Amino acid sequence: MDLLFDAPRLNALPVVGEDALYPINRIFCVGRNYAAHAAEMGLEVDREAPWYFTKSAQAYCPSGATVPYPPGTANYHHEMELVVAIGAPGFEVSVAAADALVFGYGCGLDMTRRDRQQDGKDNRRPWSLGKDVENGAVLGALTRAGDVAAIGPQRIHLSVNGDVRQDAVLSDMIWSVAEVISHLSQYYHLIPGDVIMTGTPAGVGPMVAGDVIACGIDGLEPLTHTLR
Ligand code: MN
Repeated sequence: MDLLFDAPRLNALPVVGEDALYPINRIFCVGRNYAAHAAEMGLEVDREAPWYFTKSAQAYCPSGATVPYPPGTANYHHEMELVVAIGAPGFEVSVAAADALVFGYGCGLDMTRRDRQQDGKDNRRPWSLGKDVENGAVLGALTRAGDVAAIGPQRIHLSVNGDVRQDAVLSDMIWSVAEVISHLSQYYHLIPGDVIMTGTPAGVGPMVAGDVIACGIDGLEPLTHTLR
């Protein structure tokens, strides 16, 4: 195939204990999946069904990177999240069958231009400028699902410059991993490479240049991210 210019970069995630990488296809993000975070945003939890926004795979940033404070915002927030990586195709899967689609789990940061997201809310416009930020999908190494205990009691936490800002447990999620996969698969033919960021607990907040984020989830590879 003759291409007019170089194809876009293929981004891929490390997998714990393995040499081969996990290539990223799509990045889906769940909105408001922890009641305490919805409350801090002044919003009610929608318990009818989960809902989503997306980030471009080109927004990927590896763990450990130091990146510039992004343009177009004065209120750049961290959101610490459990990442679910799909490893088998699935369409219209039941909740009972959904866990079988999971390749593995990791830590992720849904970095957000909160001011641009608020513009979207105020003007009933999409959230793309708020959420699809270059270097704004920070994804850590994956651990295969077979090496991870049942999702629930694990602590999910984030600190900025050593101060704990986010601290919850995965069982606080309103929609379980299986419920999210099942619901999302009613709309998309999920395939290996599709990644789901499952929402953030309370404690989101602004970053400034020089800040260092360290975060983790019990049993998964921790993640760091630095703004310069
Ligand atoms: Mn989020």
